[in-house]
Formats: sequence, structure tokens, C-alpha cells
Amino acid sequence: MHGFSYQNGALYCEDVELDGLAEEYGTPLYVYSAGTIVDHFTRLDAALSGIDHEIAYAVKANSNLSVLRLLATKGAGFDIVSGGELFRVIKAGGDPAHCTFAGVGKTREEIVYALEQGIYSFNVESEEELRYLNQVAGELGVVAPAAVRVNPNVDAKTHKYISTGKSENKFGVDFEAIPGLYERASKELSHIRLRGLQMHIGSQLTSVAPFIEAVEKVAPMVRDLKERYGIEFWSIGGGIGIVYHGSLESGTPDWWETKSEEERPLTIEKYGQELVPRLKGLGVKILLEPGRYVVGNAGVLVTRCLYEKKGSAKTFKIVDAGMNDLIRPALYEGHHEIVPLSEPKSGERVKVDVVGPICESGDFFCQDRALPDFQPGDRVALMSAGAYGFVMASNYNSRPLPAEILVEGDTATLVRKRQTLDDLIEGEL
Ligand SMILES: *Cc1c(COP(=O)(O)O)cnc(C)c1O
Repeated sequence: MHGFSYQNGALYCEDVELDGLAEEYGTPLYVYSAGTIVDHFTRLDAALSGIDHEIAYAVKANSNLSVLRLLATKGAGFDIVSGGELFRVIKAGGDPAHCTFAGVGKTREEIVYALEQGIYSFNVESEEELRYLNQVAGELGVVAPAAVRVNPNVDAKTHKYISTGKSENKFGVDFEAIPGLYERASKELSHIRLRGLQMHIGSQLTSVAPFIEAVEKVAPMVRDLKERYGIEFWSIGGGIGIVYHGSLESGTPDWWETKSEEERPLTIEKYGQELVPRLKGLGVKILLEPGRYVVGNAGVLVTRCLYEKKGSAKTFKIVDAGMNDLIRPALYEGHHEIVPLSEPKSGERVKVDVVGPICESGDFFCQDRALPDFQPGDRVALMSAGAYGFVMASNYNSRPLPAEILVEGDTATLVRKRQTLDDLIEGEL
């Protein structure tokens, strides 16, 4: 379920018409479907129902307080990568005892804050960090629960900027170095409780094969660590890919489809079918850290066309959203379907570049793409913008951050106000 569909020629999020929202709240505007978020969370939970498991939603994908609150009420734990994200989770009513803390560069302040809040586990990425965690915990007179992130050296076959499980990536500890590290930690680090093992091989994986490879490679290590040190959990990370090319609940109109051969949907049911048997019987709790899968297809960025500019080589549609609002195309060559809010009446298409107002040539949402024609004043939706969208937005070019709306059924709630010009200079002296 993606929650977005045409009804009587107008694009809706659940039972709310997007054009009306844009009229009321302006553009650019992020709109999220609560039903889709809950549906994805629930389906993943069901796919893992055969084993003792917990879903720790990766907060960095979309950290709006209302999104976190929604997931907390459904029983989600949270995977955080900063003290700021822990603060958000707590503000949203999430339980720190169900938080895991990832990341290669935790600061002393973040470690102290997380220890005080009583998080479930620090997922540590180097021996140096583990020793420092031991030292800080010792100074506070507490014991820090920890897991080490193993780098299984498996190719996730995804974009190089979001691949994390190869030896040349900065993440985790080499597979071969794990047994020695746990042995030294158990003997020397009296303020560490070795609670689990963690891995995360990359993001936007569109095939189950790399997950299988990593799970099969690491499972014997989990057995061994449980036997020797009594670890309780194994986090197999996030990374489940979503479909960015063509996906509307009401079916995909043929003018829209730009199906790519390399992007095949990895269904959550298949993920569960393949992994559950391989995870069963290990005797540890399995943690998952999905971000994109939960929220990616649950959000759109609505933008308005300002100008059409016909150059000698190309036609540009200039819209009021820019790479500062949604950076995925510029940063990862990310694809977003571009859909008019008013359903096109004919199958006619024009080849255009859709670009933002930012003074960067990388500020585009598509290049040479055949789209239904839209004109200045018309609004379009950049689909599948719920993950790594607003969270990566910046004030570059001194542009206020867009507003965010959460839709539940026929109710739309403003969950973040659009920034004002005064907000832009807040804090400057
Ligand atoms: C980013 C991240 C995730 C979530 O990745 P998705 O591809 O959004 O599922 C999970 N775990 C860790 C450690 C991460 O850094």
C-alpha cells in the first residue's frame, strides 16, 4: 500500500486531496501517509513473526516527531545515530530502553547522555570506541551495554555512497578481528556488557541475495559469541530497498512508467521467507533496523512549476523545490517519479529537465525525462520522498525549510511549520 492515488482526476494522499493541501500550506510541501507507514511496519513485523525479533526503526530516514510517535505507538524500537536523534525519540514518547545507538563517531557528550537515558545497546564500530565507552562508563560508575558492528565484507550491490558492508567502507570491524576483540573486551573491559552483535551492509538493496550471504556468513559467529559471552541479540541491520520507479496504488498509468531493469522490487514477504529459516534456532533476539522501507514510499514532496524555459538544447521546467529540499538526485543519482496533481487527460509526453532554483548545476530532479506536460502554476509531486528527504534538507541559498504534513484517513495535520525568514537567522550574532 502506498497511500497515493488519483481520485476523480486529482492526486490524493489517503482521503486528502494534495492540491488542497498545497493551496493551504504552500509549496514545497512534504506530505506523509500515516496508513502507509503503519502498513509497512506491520507487514515487516508479520514477515518476521516466526522468530523472536524487534524492529528498531532507523530514525535518520525520517525523524519528524509525529512519525516517531506514530511508530512508538505501534511498538517500534529505534536505531539512532546521534544524541539529537535520542532526544527526538524521547520527546516523541519512545522508550530509550528500546534504542540502539549506531555510528562511527560518537562523542563523549552523546555517550554520557545515552548512558544516563539507559539505552538498550551501543553499537560500536571500532576497538578504540569500545575502550572509550568502557572508560566513560567507568567514570560514571555504570556498565555500558554494547554490541560490535561486524563488517562482513559482502557486496550489497547498491550505489557506492550507500554501500557499507565491504572492507573498504569506514563501517564496522573486520569479520576476522571480531573473535579477538570480544575475547579482549570480556577480559579487560569491566564496564562493558557484551550484549549483542550488529551488522548493516548497505541501503536500498533490491535483491535478497546479499542479505542471505551476510546472514549465512555471520550466523556461526553469533552462535559462538552466544556460547562464549552470552550475547542476547543479533541486529541484521536495515537496507531493504523500495521501488522508486512507478508505483501508485490505483495502478500505474502508462505515461508514468519508467521501469528500470536494474530496479526490481524486493518484497518483504520474500525477505522474511528467505531469512527467517536462517535466523531460527540461534537462540538470540533478532533486531532489524529498517528506515527507507518504512517511510520511503509513504511520502511525497509537492512542488509548483514557476517557469518553463525553452533553451536551444533542452526544455527546463523550473519548480519551487530545490536540492536543498530533496538532495537524493544530486547526492545519490536518486530517482523520483514526477506526477502532476491533476491527472493528465492524454498520454502525450514532452522530454524535459525538471530543475530547482538553486545556483548549482546538480540541482535537478530529472533530466531528459518524458513527462506529461505541465505548465507554470501547476503542481507536481515528487514521489517516494518519505525517506532521506526532509531530514537532509538544508537552508542552502537561505531558503526556509519546507512544511511537513501527516495524513491519516481524511485528516491532515501540520506536523512541522514552514520556516520563516526570521527562523533563517535565528542564533546568528
Ligand atoms: C542508515 C542505517 C540503517 C537504515 O538503513 P535503510 O536503508 O534506511 O533501511 C540501519 N542501520 C544503520 C546502522 C544505518 O546506518
